[in-house]
Amino acid sequence: MNNRQEAGNSLQEISSCIANVDPNALTVTQAQDIMRQFVQPIEGMEKLTIRQALGRVLAQDIVSPINVPAHDNSAMDGYAFCGDILSTEPQALLEIVGTALAGSGFTGTVTACQCVRIMTGALIPAGCDTVVAQEFTSKIDDSHIQITCPRLQQGDNRRRKGEDLALGTIALSRGKILTPADLGLLASLGIAEVSVQRRLRVAFFSTGDELRSLGETLDAGCVYDSNRYTLYGMLTRLGCEVMDMGVIQDHPQALEAAMRQACENADAIITSGGVSVGDADHTRRLMHSLGDIAFWSLAMRPGRPMAFGKINSMGRSAYIFGLPGNPVAVMVSFYFFARQALLQQMGAKTSPLPLMKVKANAAIKKQPGRTEYQRGIVALRANGEYGVSVTGAQGSGILRSMSEANCIIVLAHEQGMVATDEFVDILLFEGLT
Ligand code: AMP
Ligand code: MG
Repeated sequence: MNNRQEAGNSLQEISSCIANVDPNALTVTQAQDIMRQFVQPIEGMEKLTIRQALGRVLAQDIVSPINVPAHDNSAMDGYAFCGDILSTEPQALLEIVGTALAGSGFTGTVTACQCVRIMTGALIPAGCDTVVAQEFTSKIDDSHIQITCPRLQQGDNRRRKGEDLALGTIALSRGKILTPADLGLLASLGIAEVSVQRRLRVAFFSTGDELRSLGETLDAGCVYDSNRYTLYGMLTRLGCEVMDMGVIQDHPQALEAAMRQACENADAIITSGGVSVGDADHTRRLMHSLGDIAFWSLAMRPGRPMAFGKINSMGRSAYIFGLPGNPVAVMVSFYFFARQALLQQMGAKTSPLPLMKVKANAAIKKQPGRTEYQRGIVALRANGEYGVSVTGAQGSGILRSMSEANCIIVLAHEQGMVATDEFVDILLFEGLT
């Protein structure tokens, strides 16, 4: 696997160019900025049939090889005629001189005061430029109709050649994550295969002596490792190839071996646990010895501690996201930090996640000076407006709050207490990859 990553600026160099950076109280925006400047896209692409390419990152601009539609055609079932007549006779009487079907056009000529019965998608016959829909005509006899629509204008109901996609223009840009609409669009251009970025390979493991994997007995004081499952789900949804490395005990040698193995085999690494202030210094020493790593304390909740950087082993390198251990903190840090960085590494050009404004159903406690990500349920109120409520206890270990939620309430850094009916920003889970 090609795991090349260009040597860009160091984390230290990037951080020093951002105003007021304090690694012990880094704002969410500052951390996101540093990541954006640090992460370089992977190289390597593959050619896939368009069905296989669903959800993948387009590696080339797609220039339209044809006009879609290829010719002017009718948007309606009705009658095609020359619209000049409308300026003097908006309710003209027209003689029917033939029929144009989708796939078999009318080849004769059409003069003023004549029309052709036409179906949706049929080519507009020579001499015609306007279509009147069937329902806006009245039939006078077998060969005559009268226009009954007073507002019809010349050119109406005509789809223009190239109006969907014009020959030679960019139909889809490199970096686009292909959607169902894009597959259809490619098919409409006659394109059967496209080049996409190769899948991003992401290794992950959990650290903590108290963690047990599924199938093991739960000794006193132990918990089942859930982070590897949420990470599996989030990474898979993002279109990554995942490499689950299990639970790694909190021992320097075991951690070093795991980090090296991950680095040599993946483009990015996600760990959970072991980055809090109270955690053993050996993690920090080890990560520093393997590459360019920053340990941050973020002004956010949940998910305050985080390590980020790039490590090297045996000539390979990989970005590393050292997420906190608490299950909700893992998901929040993934969605608000790792996700965007991984997309960038995949070569995807995406817009920031869309936040919507919704009224709070009740007051929400919030301290200014940190960004809070509270789990919420947004639903229609009796009055037809949407309102959002928090999902009960917001402890960063309460994964149920995430499972019950259908959105995250994003309370900005400066925001203080939220009053009932005040608008708050929410990020809907629906559609979040
Ligand atoms: P840490 O960040 O390692 O101090 O962990 C914080 C809390 O999260 C502790 O209560 C851990 O037991 C818990 N935790 C850490 N990793 C996991 C995991 N993989 N699955 C479930 N809980 C975890
Ligand atoms: Mg731990």
